Amino acid sequence: MPHANLDVLNKLISARHELAQIMEFKSYADFAIRPNMAGSPDVAMSFLLDLSKHVRCKADEEFNVIRECKRQHLNERSADLEPWDEAYFVGMVKSSAYSLDSSVIASYFSLSRCLDGLKMLVESLFGATFCQVPMMPGECWHPDVVKLSLYHPQEGDLGFMYLDLYSRKGKYSGCAHFAIRGGRVISESEYQLPVVALVCDFIGSPGSLTSRLNHYEVETLFHEFGHALHSLLSRTDYQHFSGTRVVLDIAEIPSILFE
Ligand SMILES: [Zn+2]
Repeated sequence: MPHANLDVLNKLISARHELAQIMEFKSYADFAIRPNMAGSPDVAMSFLLDLSKHVRCKADEEFNVIRECKRQHLNERSADLEPWDEAYFVGMVKSSAYSLDSSVIASYFSLSRCLDGLKMLVESLFGATFCQVPMMPGECWHPDVVKLSLYHPQEGDLGFMYLDLYSRKGKYSGCAHFAIRGGRVISESEYQLPVVALVCDFIGSPGSLTSRLNHYEVETLFHEFGHALHSLLSRTDYQHFSGTRVVLDIAEIPSILFE
């Protein structure tokens, strides 16, 4: 790290501490976690310590394998594993020790299969199905976009999702869920249905169906789909509290479960 950055980081830490003190919190951690469901650093810490009891043994085992890989690679018996080594040496261990070929894994995950899998999960968990619905002229922002309705046999339409899955020039890169309209009660007999968009940047085109996802992309797709379902299935009086419009640690639960 360039040395000049250390000074910047120190200033950032003291500015955060000052902010916390002005707001009458003990520390920045107290201040930052307060609006979340966890509520205090102690709750977060005891959760982490408890979790660590369950995973520690296996994690230590894997850590040793990865450190050994680095030592052999550098031919340096005392080399230690640093946080910035992780992605590189994890990848190396996966391909050498476990002869994991990511292109073989990707061959199981065509995008169309992943979408079928998601539909199957939604049907078995919530008894609802996705079906494509027509759009009004000018309703969508690009001809690749399709509109789905989340439909339940007894409840009817539960909400709508625009799917914009393929990368193209000038498009947002990455995979994300956007809430376009939150659900809310309009009157005793009327509910405003939520509308969301799932925007991804997979390689391919809507007609081809041959687009293959690597494992990380599958996880990301399922994660964002979890956010989309959170929005579509939520029923709130006010749209400001609809779906993912909640504190951060709650917002990530449905997505991480789906992932
Ligand atoms: Zn998320």
